[in-house]
Formats: sequence, structure tokens, C-alpha cells
Amino acid sequence: MMSYFSSEDIVLLENSVKETLEHGCKECKFKFIVFSTNVSLEPDGTKVFFLEVECPNCDAEYTDIMAMRNLND
Ligand SMILES: [Zn+2]
Repeated sequence: MMSYFSSEDIVLLENSVKETLEHGCKECKFKFIVFSTNVSLEPDGTKVFFLEVECPNCDAEYTDIMAMRNLND
């Protein structure tokens, strides 16, 4: 899985995470959400970066798509 990441991807991911965390939980705006980042590679070469979020305040669980990038671009 990690071999999919280029340094550009890491930067994109870090920026997206930062942005998402500034907004907090999308249900209650709680700032200290628990999250893990994930990336999936679609058959057409698109990398989809997403964040799996758990909110300890309101118990919301959701997946947020942060960014997409096509390897062939
Ligand atoms: Zn919440």
C-alpha cells in the first residue's frame, strides 16, 4: 500500500488532512476527532485519498474523500 505514495501524494495528503481537521467533525464540529488516512488505487489509475473519521464527542463515523489524483495526468 505505501508504495503507491509519491512525495507529491504525501504533501497532498498532509494538506488535505490539515484542512479537514480545521473543520472538525462534520456533525458537531468537535475538533479532536480520531482519524486514519487511506488511499485506494482505482483500475483507471486514479488515486483516491480518504479519511476515516470517528468522533469521540457525538460518535459519528464517516469517510471523507479528501482528494483524487490521476496517475496519468
Ligand atoms: Zn461529532
